[in-house]
Amino acid sequence: MDFAPNPDHELIIEAVEALCARFDDSYWSEHDQRHEFPWDFYREMAAGGWVGIAIPEQYGGGGAGIAEAALVLNRVAASGAAMNGSSALHLTVFGLNPVVKFANDRLKETFLPRAAVGDLHVAFGVTEPDAGTDTSRITTRATDDGMGGWIVNGRKIWTTKALESEVCLLLARTDGIPGEGFDGLSLFLVDLDPEHCEVVPIPKLGRNAVASCEVAYDDLPVESWRLIGERGRGFHHILHGLNPERILLAAMACGIGEAALRRATAYANEREVFGRLIGSNQAVSHPLAKAHMDLHAAMNMMREAAWRYDNGLDCGEHANTAKYLAAEASFSAADHALQTLGGLGYATEYHVERYWREARLQRIAPVSQEMTLNYIAQNVMGLPRSY
Ligand SMILES: Cc1cc2nc3c(=O)[nH]c(=O)nc-3n(C[C@H](O)[C@H](O)[C@H](O)COP(=O)(O)OP(=O)(O)OC[C@H]3O[C@@H](n4cnc5c(N)ncnc54)[C@H](O)[C@@H]3O)c2cc1C
Repeated sequence: MDFAPNPDHELIIEAVEALCARFDDSYWSEHDQRHEFPWDFYREMAAGGWVGIAIPEQYGGGGAGIAEAALVLNRVAASGAAMNGSSALHLTVFGLNPVVKFANDRLKETFLPRAAVGDLHVAFGVTEPDAGTDTSRITTRATDDGMGGWIVNGRKIWTTKALESEVCLLLARTDGIPGEGFDGLSLFLVDLDPEHCEVVPIPKLGRNAVASCEVAYDDLPVESWRLIGERGRGFHHILHGLNPERILLAAMACGIGEAALRRATAYANEREVFGRLIGSNQAVSHPLAKAHMDLHAAMNMMREAAWRYDNGLDCGEHANTAKYLAAEASFSAADHALQTLGGLGYATEYHVERYWREARLQRIAPVSQEMTLNYIAQNVMGLPRSY
């Protein structure tokens, strides 16, 4: 791994920062308050080729690695767009990885070129009311229709971008019994056909420009070629997307922390209380300095995980560690930034409260901090499984 300045990466940073500068904090705050998807931002990112950056060149994408994709989403989040901007994009950036790796040619040729130009919005339907952390309990069922296809029935929750998406990577049970292992789950790229899918946004704490939804599937027909990879191996197929997802989430989290510290530093350098700048109090400056160091460390962990993934090395430990450290560093940075601004930190106008709400999410999703610690304890350190 090389820490020398990388001219290709610097070009990405420069171009993405220039694009994001046209969408300021007020833009994001307004979209958050109006619960409105940031279409004009999304279209510009797509036109710039950033949405399809990690899709293979043979399908019209940029063919770049996860390191470059992470850089894009990091700069988007750090611009002040935070999760509202980065999660408007990230499902298309990483989500089709199982399609690239396991799908048949028809599926790849039909959908990847459209995703590469940002024309195809993709959702990811795994979590259910009774199957979150424990995916083995999934009950949404795809039943053989007797003609080689499938009929899907069931209910998912938290499906992000279900309102905007035409298709959803759906994990459904084709075989086996809920709670008894991961075999028996199959992965499909299904149409979110309004005739058979009822989509209802879930009111939530933050990232309100991008809705996450309950989706009820009612006799949704799915043609046979929409099965990704092998029947019953769907969970194993999505595992290939989970490490890159964690790496991208870590990059996004670090970006939010950076945006929060930028606001806090500016405020601490101009706000006078008791006749002195508040930043001259170590009780103000030290937590900000610590947050800066924690973000830097998390960012380097993320870069190592991305480098390992792009070089075909095992990166489970690194991707999980990066996501864990970044989620902690990001929320801590946002929390100290909010404290630095005092009462104004709580005011919408200064944007830090929005960063704080959005930074909190990474401690829960896409995997909770507790489950990340369980993974490291068991799979890296060899401790007994605790659950
Ligand atoms: C805004 C948002 C967007 C999301 N987007 C998507 C999406 O697009 N697609 C999708 O499929 N899902 C999505 N999710 C769902 C997300 O992945 C889950 O919320 C997450 O995996 C946790 O599952 P759960 O909410 O069911 O928590 P539960 O499984 O009910 O767990 C509740 C709490 O108990 C803890 N816990 C449970 N078991 C253990 C244990 N053995 N040891 C220690 N702690 C434990 C967990 O860590 C957690 O803190 C999203 C969630 C949110 C909030």
